[in-house]
Amino acid sequence: MQAAWHQFNVPRVVFGRGTLKKLPEETALLGGKNAFLLSTPQQTGQLHLIRELLAGSDVHVAGIFTEATMHTPVGITEKAIAALNAAGASSVGAAAAGIPSSTVIISIGGGSTIGLGKAISIRTGHAHICIPTSYAGSEMTPILGETADGRKTTRSDPRILPRTVLYDVDLTGSLPQTMRATSGINALAHAVEALYAQNVSPVVGAMAIEAVKSLSESLPKLAVDGNDQKAQEDALYGAWLCGMCLGNVSMSIHHKLCHVLGGSFNLPHGETHTAVLPHSLSYVAPKIPGVMAKLADAFPGSNGDAMTGLNGLLEKLPVKLALKDYGFREEDIDKAADIALSQPYWSPRPLEREAIREVIRRIWAGEPAR
Ligand code: NAD
Repeated sequence: MQAAWHQFNVPRVVFGRGTLKKLPEETALLGGKNAFLLSTPQQTGQLHLIRELLAGSDVHVAGIFTEATMHTPVGITEKAIAALNAAGASSVGAAAAGIPSSTVIISIGGGSTIGLGKAISIRTGHAHICIPTSYAGSEMTPILGETADGRKTTRSDPRILPRTVLYDVDLTGSLPQTMRATSGINALAHAVEALYAQNVSPVVGAMAIEAVKSLSESLPKLAVDGNDQKAQEDALYGAWLCGMCLGNVSMSIHHKLCHVLGGSFNLPHGETHTAVLPHSLSYVAPKIPGVMAKLADAFPGSNGDAMTGLNGLLEKLPVKLALKDYGFREEDIDKAADIALSQPYWSPRPLEREAIREVIRRIWAGEPAR
């Protein structure tokens, strides 16, 4: 085995069913006396569950904000911080200066709500507890993407990492079937890409393979029966591992292509990852034979070929694979290729203009990757 060094950056994690009940205890562990709760308008039901839970505890719910939305617009973050200050729970200056604060930000939802929690936490210094309800993985990363004036910027800072993550499998029961599948493939992409990351360590590699197995076995079962309890558990466990991969090694061509397509053409997040993954893997495959062999072993039904395994998995899920179905236009293929080439980054196979254009064309058309 090659020599390796690795330092994990991870939050405290509570995983299981019914773990939401641990929230008062976990908030108190962080010294939290006042809670500020976040959700999207679509998940206020789950937010109110938390409110009721905390009502019977020593933690005071100082305020709620239910306007979390995609791409973490700075205007929404500022509105949420104004609501936090108006609730009287915040001693923003003190917390930002490192003086322990008794206010804790609690986000319940997918990557959009967690993004808002991170944006508030990094600005105010308040501790952040995440309760993820999708498989996107943001809760395990020190990365924050934000939009202002139509431009998305991304930064990484250890202080962005949430302090505690409560994974409660019960909360994923309400995921719509299509989102469950695309969010699961979004997670899978973190593990696949970690396997060929420049800075992958043996530990992250082992987690990534475990994640691929867990998700590729559970997602088809969930496509048949979204209430399959064991499959729900395996999928969220896989997503946790995928988030750890995303937060601890550098991503490359797959995530960059998704960033270009999603960010520049306003395409939906999980759906874009799902359409791109077979093509980004196929593009780098000739340069990563060892990784392809490991993936072939991990995907059920691969017959010794990772692409067969991945394509077979996608066929079992309720997903569309053509980005033209989400509004990506044929005339934007060249522009997307130019943007992808304009920001150089490491990839096991360097980006070649014509080959990348063809990859993007196939993703637009939804043609199978080989
Ligand atoms: P999302 O958070 O935008 O959620 C989509 C919709 O599904 C929302 O209406 C949400 O309320 C709803 N939803 C979520 N969980 C649900 C559940 N269990 N039941 C019912 N409805 C539910 O989507 P997402 O895919 O989770 O996150 C995507 C966003 O996260 C993107 O903006 C992406 O850039 C970001 N992200 C960031 C990182 C990072 O490390 N910074 C990592 C992954 C994703």
